[in-house]
Amino acid sequence: MVVAIDGPAGAGKSSVARAVAQALGFTYLDTGAMYRSVGLAAERDGVAPGVAAERARIELGERVLLDGEDVTEAIRTPEASEAASRAAADPAVRKALVAQQRRIVADGDWVAEGRDIGTVVAPDAAVKVFLTASPEERARRRAAQIGADVATVLAEQAIRDERDANREHDPLAAAADAVELDTTGLSLEQVVERVVALVAA
Ligand code: C5P
Repeated sequence: MVVAIDGPAGAGKSSVARAVAQALGFTYLDTGAMYRSVGLAAERDGVAPGVAAERARIELGERVLLDGEDVTEAIRTPEASEAASRAAADPAVRKALVAQQRRIVADGDWVAEGRDIGTVVAPDAAVKVFLTASPEERARRRAAQIGADVATVLAEQAIRDERDANREHDPLAAAADAVELDTTGLSLEQVVERVVALVAA
């Protein structure tokens, strides 16, 4: 079974998805890490993201491995975020990664986190959650995570949101059957509790 967790950057998806997976004994799939790895591979090798997506061998787990190299930290830098965002706007990249993600979640129990899990990767997911938070709250969380200042993060976030929203398939749109959950002002525990309750329902 698949629990789909979608929503914009900074809505708390990663922490929520990780904790929900742990609570349910499911495996966590971080699809953003795949886009980040492809972005990084394209930059490093000087190739188009679509080429990198076909070539790159990405292994997800405790650590993220790109062609055998541990890139867990390298994919979290602001530059890597920017490269990931550009790679994710390339239809060839999306096609390659969505195919991989569908194969991954086809067997077993998954909490899959991304932008298009409930709409594209796993439209038949048993539970779909769309997490949101105010732009300020999202930028605050992101800034605290990466140790940057809020104003800078807010400005960069607006650019990425805009790019995301202008893609052909708007990944910022929730699946029609997703449960929207605004995490502004809620603790991680409160959000996790609500998602777990949806799975149990
Ligand atoms: O969630 P995260 O910030 O790690 O995602 C990195 C980039 O990959 C983001 O810019 C996001 O737009 C993109 N992404 C995507 N589809 C997904 C997961 C991430 O387009 N399923």
